[in-house]
Amino acid sequence: MPHDVHNPRSLHAHSDDVIIVGGGLAGLFCALRVSPRPVTVVTAAPIGEGSSSAWAQGGIAAAVTQEDTPEAHARDTVAAGAGLVDEQVALAMAREAPARVAELLAYGVPFDKDLAGHLLVSREAAHSARRIVRVKGDTAGRAIMAALVAAVRKTPSIRVLEGLWAEDLASAGGVVSGIRARALDANRRTTITGRAVVLATGGVGHLYAVTTNPQEAQGQGLALAARAGAMLADTEFVQFHPTAIAIGWDPAPLATEALRGDGAILVNRAGERFMRRLHAEAELAPRDVVARGVFAEIAAGRGAFLDARQAIGSAFAERFPTVHATCMAAGIDPARDLVPVAPAAHYHMGGIAVDTRGRTSLAGLWAAGEVASTGAHGANRLASNSLLEAVVFAARIAEDIGGLPPRAGARQDLVEIGAPVLPPPADETELRQLMTAHVGVIRTDAGLAHALREIGRIERESASPALRNMAVAALVIAAAAWRRRESRGGHYRSDHPAADAAQGQRTFLTLDQARALARQATEGRHAPFAAA
Ligand SMILES: Cc1cc2nc3c(=O)[nH]c(=O)nc-3n(C[C@H](O)[C@H](O)[C@H](O)COP(=O)(O)OP(=O)(O)OC[C@H]3O[C@@H](n4cnc5c(N)ncnc54)[C@H](O)[C@@H]3O)c2cc1C
Repeated sequence: MPHDVHNPRSLHAHSDDVIIVGGGLAGLFCALRVSPRPVTVVTAAPIGEGSSSAWAQGGIAAAVTQEDTPEAHARDTVAAGAGLVDEQVALAMAREAPARVAELLAYGVPFDKDLAGHLLVSREAAHSARRIVRVKGDTAGRAIMAALVAAVRKTPSIRVLEGLWAEDLASAGGVVSGIRARALDANRRTTITGRAVVLATGGVGHLYAVTTNPQEAQGQGLALAARAGAMLADTEFVQFHPTAIAIGWDPAPLATEALRGDGAILVNRAGERFMRRLHAEAELAPRDVVARGVFAEIAAGRGAFLDARQAIGSAFAERFPTVHATCMAAGIDPARDLVPVAPAAHYHMGGIAVDTRGRTSLAGLWAAGEVASTGAHGANRLASNSLLEAVVFAARIAEDIGGLPPRAGARQDLVEIGAPVLPPPADETELRQLMTAHVGVIRTDAGLAHALREIGRIERESASPALRNMAVAALVIAAAAWRRRESRGGHYRSDHPAADAAQGQRTFLTLDQARALARQATEGRHAPFAAA
């Protein structure tokens, strides 16, 4: 049986050949590609739940038609990344995309096809061709994960430990030899050692008070690697979705951009259509411009609302059933009422620096998916490239690990993990509000310095390992944001609103360097911009 049921009291140190932390798309795809070699997947939430992968609505970008080419896909990726995309990485990723989509089909993902059996593709913003492979409208993530979960459950060489929360890497002298994890229901720790550890823990959205990401996306993997001394890259770059529905839900539901495409406008409490004074295309300006406009109205106390009354009106329920149902559940009828919106943390372009094989700077440690920084996204992600990056790099990691001699007789008896639940939230509210207010859509020197001081205090004072890890992840984002004194892609500094060619490089930093930057920021000293 690939999926084990065990007794928490028997929790003890155990080992395997390959350990993958995270059961989203990157983790499961890697596990399937590693098989038949034995692999253990450690995941906080049950596989298929608690992952951004299952929530993806758009699909996967891949040049799979006659009218499209990987070169065009790579060009669009480079253009979106505002000067920081590694062009070789983007091109190789685009070239591998059709093969990875074919493998997903082989695992049983029901991508939409025409009557002749060819993949159907649709278009998304900033793509020069129709190249998004989807499943029945907006259900790609759910369908992809359902197929992979079924494939994993059928693969005897994959054991899945659900309800285990990785808290530390076991490492010494720059070599990673395993993980330390907590069984969420029994609140006990265990160590799992292995020849190869792959972090696939997803993004950082939950570090922010308003986010589209699941609670599990709290930068734990980023913090684990940082604390073990790994090199990180581009951590300042976070993408914000401009119009999450602000009804106090956590995570925040999305008001799809298609609403604005269909004529819905953005107004403040006084009824002013504020995007008109900010951009010639008003509500249809690029995502980051709209996110800043919405953020500024809220920060000024004027509020921001989506007004679909005229443009969509009584057709709302039929044309946007998901958004309609969400609003109605919150007592808002979007056909007649204004819908309150706010920008939400959505995607982390930065992460653990990895090379083209997915190797981190630490021996024995690989990283895949949103937790990694491959150089494919630069300062801003092109829509639907993140699921693609997850499968491309997960496959490369599996191949790289496949070249290692297996660890004979490594697997030991399993432990009971029990029903998974996240630990009771330590008081993370202050940290999340700090991140939204000062390390979010609009950043300043003073705000970032304040955030760095407070993040340091929260890390020192907290008794919760999970909250301390969140603070470490917050620190590496805020420190890099403080150091980059320009605006580019997802990073906007109102005190340095223009891009600066001299800073047009990727940035790399370790946790020690981030702590040094935090000290300089809080002492009011200025660090020169340095890419590495
Ligand atoms: C609402 C929404 C819509 C999106 N739409 C699209 C789209 O259409 N196309 C696209 O390309 N991208 C989209 N994205 C982005 C994309 O979904 C993610 O970037 C991608 O799924 C990340 O995959 P992952 O495997 O790296 O992480 P995830 O799928 O988030 O999986 C992370 C896993 O790690 C586990 N985990 C986390 N911390 C720990 C820990 N400490 N110990 C143990 N386990 C842990 C979690 O339980 C989970 O299993 C969307 C994101 C969101 C939130």
